[in-house]
Formats: sequence, C-alpha cells, structure tokens
Amino acid sequence: MAAPTRIAVLKESAKGEARVAAIPETVKKFIALGAEVAVESGAGLGAAVSDAQFEAAGATIAPRKNALEGADIILAVNGPDPADLAGAKAGALLVGALDPLRRREAIDGYAAAGLEALAMEWMPRITRAQSMDILSSQSNLAGYKAVVDAAARYGRAFPMMMTAAGTISAAKVFVMGVGVAGLQAIATARRLGAQVSATDVRSATKEQIQSLGAKPVFVENVVGIEGEGAGGYAGEMSDEYKAAQAELVSAHIAKQDIVITTALIPGRPAPRLISDAQLATMPPGSVVVDLAAEAGGNVEGCVAGEVVVRHGVTVVGASNLAASLATDASALFARNLYNFLSAFWDKEERAPVLPDDDEIVKGIRLTKGGRIVSERLAG
Ligand code: NAD
Repeated sequence: MAAPTRIAVLKESAKGEARVAAIPETVKKFIALGAEVAVESGAGLGAAVSDAQFEAAGATIAPRKNALEGADIILAVNGPDPADLAGAKAGALLVGALDPLRRREAIDGYAAAGLEALAMEWMPRITRAQSMDILSSQSNLAGYKAVVDAAARYGRAFPMMMTAAGTISAAKVFVMGVGVAGLQAIATARRLGAQVSATDVRSATKEQIQSLGAKPVFVENVVGIEGEGAGGYAGEMSDEYKAAQAELVSAHIAKQDIVITTALIPGRPAPRLISDAQLATMPPGSVVVDLAAEAGGNVEGCVAGEVVVRHGVTVVGASNLAASLATDASALFARNLYNFLSAFWDKEERAPVLPDDDEIVKGIRLTKGGRIVSERLAG
C-alpha cells in the first residue's frame, strides 16, 4: 500500500489575514482518507482554532520547517512566498487562493521549485465544482459584512421605526453588481429593514433581485448581457451601455443613503460605476462600501483598505472582508479545499490523482513538472 499523503497547513503571513486553510473537521476527514496532517503552530489562532483543537483532531503541530518536511500537499489561504516553502517534496500540490494574475513572479517560483500550484479561485463555474468554489464561499460572507459595516458607519438607523417621539424612515440601500456578494448584501440589508434596490448588467439577476424583495433598477434602452453571461460572468460593456448606465445611476443615487458596489469583470480592472460628481449628489452622511476596491474600485476616489470621506460621503475601500469573519470564512474555505481534494482522492494511492483532461484540473492547475501549464497564464 502507498505511504500516507502528508498534508501541511500553513500559518498565513499576509497582513490582516486571519483565516486558515484547514479546520479540525477537515483535518479529521483528511485523516479518515488515510492522510497525515501537520499544522504550523498558531495557524488557527486568528480564526479561533487553537493548536490543541487541531491536535485533538489528529494533526501534529510543528514549526513551518517541520510541517513542510516531506509534504505532498500544502494548504494555504493566500499564496505563500516560494522561498518559504523549502522542504516540500518535488511535485507537491500547493492549494490555495494563489492570485495568479497579480503574482506571476511567485507562480514562476512555484514552477522552479517543482511544485504543482493549484489556484482555487480559477475553479470553473460548473455544478460539480460548486462545493469547491472559494470565490462563492468568501464573497457570500463579504456581501454580508459590507452591509453590517455600512450600518455601523451610518449615523442613522436602517429600519423604519414609529416611536412616540416621531417616525424614523427606512434607509435606502442600493446594491450594484448582483453576483454572490451582491445577493447576500441585498438579503442582509432587507433583514435589517432597509428599502433595497439593485442593478446588474446580466438580465438573469432581475428575478433574483425581486425574489429577495428588492427593486431592480436596470438599463432598459440598451441591451445588457442576456441571461447569466458566459460562465456566469459579466464582460466589458459597450460605450453606449456605459453611458445609459451612468445616466440611470445619476438619477437613482442622489436618493440613496447606502450604496454597496460589488461589480467585477474577471481578468480586468473593476468597472467604474460611480463618479466623483455622482458621489457629490448623495445626502451627507451616506455610506458607500466598495467591495471591488482591490480590483481598482467601482467608485472614483475609493482607496483599497482605507476609509475616505468625499463630499460628506464615507467611502469604504473594502479589503478582504472575509478575513474579518475569520472563523466562518475559514470553515467554508477549508471545506472548499477538502471537497476538491477528496473528489479526486484515489483510495489505492492514498492521494489525490488529478487527470490532465479534467475540466476542474485544467481550470486551476498553474504549474507542473517545473513549467507553467495553465493556458490562461501562457496566453
Ligand atoms: P463577480 O464577482 O464576477 O461579479 C459581481 C457582479 O458584478 C456580477 O453579477 C456581474 O454581472 C456584475 N457586474 C459586472 N460588471 C458590471 C457593471 N458594469 N455594472 C453592474 N454590474 C456589473 O460575480 P460572482 O459573484 O462571481 O457571480 C457571477 C455568477 O456566477 C452568478 O450568477 C453566480 O450565481 C454564478 N456562480 C455559479 C457557480 C457555479 O455554478 N459553480 C458558482 C459561483 C457563482
């Protein structure tokens, strides 16, 4: 019988990162598959998981160097520096959110180190891969947290309240971009009692918005993207569409108290949806949370990781909101990784076997045998 696969779980080193790529539940499940798991000491602390809890689940706790020694699989939330991975076996799988387009040098480093790097954010949007989709699991939490953060910064209440001292009107919340994060933002704002409207370029979202009790605000005179869009994703819109959208937003935004923007186009900078002039028309004290801040921002003047006040409007450049819900975010992320690896687990080999022609493998595999093998990175 093959030797057990050794899995190393790294402690994250990125600033502000509190998540961890495994939880005791997934450690137990990997062990049940016949693997051995070594967790870097303190890896779970930011997510409220102690070394003792990992140990109780069957993991060994070790400094990074020892955890990596002889590792066949390395689990991480963010792509680690290749120089920090010494000791792993040649051909070891590195699984995490590797950010391939912005970290090309690191990806080259993984190839040079002989690692097989697997970028989980490039998981194809197919039914079979839904439970492995880190973008969905983390965006869902980010959409929720964006609204909670906006509510905390807003000097007024969200729900309508009839009190003996007079009536408080409901906050008006506008969600721009209705993917996974946007849908959760709508649901959360509704639960808090706000009056919610939302927009997207994909026509399939209209019904989704309505089913959550919010009002769709759509460009009607120029066609947007029919249905779900290619692979569930939006593309760059025509100039004509952009002009019609800007006009629509101008008319709507001046009446909004809270705006949550989440619009992203894969592989491109985020579309600009709110100009500085439009921001200036919002009531003073309004709050805008830009979830696309790290991709360049949907809002003019937004700064990733910072809160700025422009024209009396608070603009939050949201950055890694999922990390601020580290316990839940880690649990979902860890299960995404487990669901992926276990789906390819070969009982005889006691290891995952990743066929070259599998759609999932083709989507996420960046490097193998010392080379870049991803078509998306080569092209
Ligand atoms: P995303 O993060 O890529 O983008 C967020 C939203 O912004 C999208 O709805 C997009 O249409 C919208 N957007 C882009 N440009 C815009 C613009 N100029 N103006 C307004 N809105 C704009 O999207 P996402 O959250 O990853 O989800 C996209 C879709 O994929 C959803 O329909 C989701 O249900 C689907 N999905 C499918 C699977 C699966 O089948 N495995 C998994 C996850 C998501």
